[in-house]
Amino acid sequence: MQDLAGKPVIVRTYAAAKATNLFDDVYVVTDSDVIFQEIEANGGKAIMSQKEHDCGSDRIAEAVEHMDVDIVVNVQGDEPFTSREGLEKVLAVFNEPDADKIDLASLMSEIHDWKEINDPNTVKVIVDKDNFALYFSRSPIPYPRDKNVAIQYYKHKGIYAFRKQAIMDFYRLPMRSLEAVEKIECIRYLEYGKNIKMTVSNTTGVEIDTPEDLIRANKLLKESKPDAVNNKFRNFPMVPKVVFGEGCFDQLTSILSSHKKEKAPFIFLVDDVFEKNTEFLDRINLRFNDKLIFISAEEEPKTSQVDELVKNIQTEFTHAPSGIIGIGGGTVMDLAKAVSIMLTNNGSAADYQGWDLVKQKAIYHVGVPTISGTGAEVSRTTVLTGPVRKLGINSDFTPFDQVILDPELTKGVSKNQWFYTGMDCFIHCVESLNGTFLNAFSQSYGEKAYDLCLEIFLGDSLSDEEARAKLMMASWHGGMSIAYSQVGVAHAMSYGLGYVLGTKHGVGNCVVFQHLEEFYPKDVALFKEMVKKHNVEIPQEICKDLSKKQMDTMITVALGMVPLWENALGRNWETIITPEKLRELYLKM
Ligand code: NAD
Ligand code: ZN
Repeated sequence: MQDLAGKPVIVRTYAAAKATNLFDDVYVVTDSDVIFQEIEANGGKAIMSQKEHDCGSDRIAEAVEHMDVDIVVNVQGDEPFTSREGLEKVLAVFNEPDADKIDLASLMSEIHDWKEINDPNTVKVIVDKDNFALYFSRSPIPYPRDKNVAIQYYKHKGIYAFRKQAIMDFYRLPMRSLEAVEKIECIRYLEYGKNIKMTVSNTTGVEIDTPEDLIRANKLLKESKPDAVNNKFRNFPMVPKVVFGEGCFDQLTSILSSHKKEKAPFIFLVDDVFEKNTEFLDRINLRFNDKLIFISAEEEPKTSQVDELVKNIQTEFTHAPSGIIGIGGGTVMDLAKAVSIMLTNNGSAADYQGWDLVKQKAIYHVGVPTISGTGAEVSRTTVLTGPVRKLGINSDFTPFDQVILDPELTKGVSKNQWFYTGMDCFIHCVESLNGTFLNAFSQSYGEKAYDLCLEIFLGDSLSDEEARAKLMMASWHGGMSIAYSQVGVAHAMSYGLGYVLGTKHGVGNCVVFQHLEEFYPKDVALFKEMVKKHNVEIPQEICKDLSKKQMDTMITVALGMVPLWENALGRNWETIITPEKLRELYLKM
């Protein structure tokens, strides 16, 4: 019940668990009237537990005994910084091939500092080769007798996911001596022979075990937002090298030459719209073992597609490539960024969807946009559709090392496509300029891009060549505007459309934006003028015949875009955007 920036810790923990959108239901189980009433007063669900319990899992066992549930996740009440990333990981193990061996799952994070390793308040865990827990202790385990053996220490985090059967099996089993002496609850499961699968989650927050922790947590909340997505100060990278102008594409060969490493190829990912365009392809100088791979932009990039490209490159070449060059629209830009990251980071691209999860610097990568509007050439993200969500790999290593801005390359883009991708830029600006995260840095870029869009799409004075050049710069500025800001309502809802119906980003934004008068009245009116002026078709009523399940998924995906909603509508966005509200909006689309 201690105060954390204006609300009790337990209320913040409850809200954080709920905001992950991962659960069918979230409850606080308590034996305290005060806590029970506080949760209910804040619109949450609480269960009064009847009996005395030695530990949290027994209390939860009592609460779920008569509930119809498969998996129960125990989030400790003192974890207000609980993030979606960690909970998602602890749930994901139940989809792995060895899932039937798992009784419960929990999280651990890497620790490096000896002070922390020696601190008895930090519970350490050691695991077997498959990450099943061997033992938990407040002592440093293992003991480093041989200082030359590289060993990773892990700290146990107090989040558990149980199969209902496992938690019921253990309910009322007597505590044994190891648990009693260490005062670590999960040792009981080991003492009775259960399998605890551990998974690594390195996101940091503050657990609140001591009064000092509470002071630190208050400070953290005052200085930044709890999810660390909208830090007040962001030390973000910008594209270090850029060349601009009609015809500058021919600089590519000389630019690459200084990055060539012996035996290591350049890999060119090129939009397959250029597959038959020999005049264009001749301008790409393939040398030695360089490789050109055509990419279809038919569907938006997927994590599985990135994984496959990386696997193929690694199988074909013994040396890591000298560089990855993406030539195409937003789809190819994003694939090139993601492939360059995944060539130096282990696992699947899906493991890195989120903020700042990438550990190793990417391979040198170059972006050559052939349509303008997405801002992907400058942005710190690569948007990917993964097995569970559509979300970017947002990291310091994502932006290109070099960009080549040649407006001439955009000549062949069809009118509809030109409009859809151009509107991505316009909508980015509207959402950034009307957002709560806006500062002068983002505003200065956003306003310029916005004005350029109006000149291009509503004015009459530009030649084709001028319009191409200006749209390319609008895209650049629009992308920069997002650096210190975020997109908003249209993007959140467009991600839902993309996930369920495969609606492409640019079209999806337009489909959504035409119905957002209540959020962006002036700009929706301007948008409709542009649609009329260019006589472009925007699909209508695409959500009319969705099944209930599809609609629910769409709503869940859209609601999951927390930073976007927060930017659009402020911290209390959840009072405005409910699932019902989204359903109503989608039904118009
Ligand atoms: P796109 O890359 O999907 O391409 C659209 C179509 O235009 C494709 O059919 C493509 O073959 C064709 N095309 C490309 N260049 C052409 C040319 N010069 N001449 C003729 N046809 C050409 O579309 P897009 O709108 O550029 O990109 C959308 C993608 O960008 C989405 O996947 C979206 O998620 C992503 N995106 C990323 C960011 C970011 O910051 N990383 C921002 C916004 C959007
Ligand atoms: Zn966009």
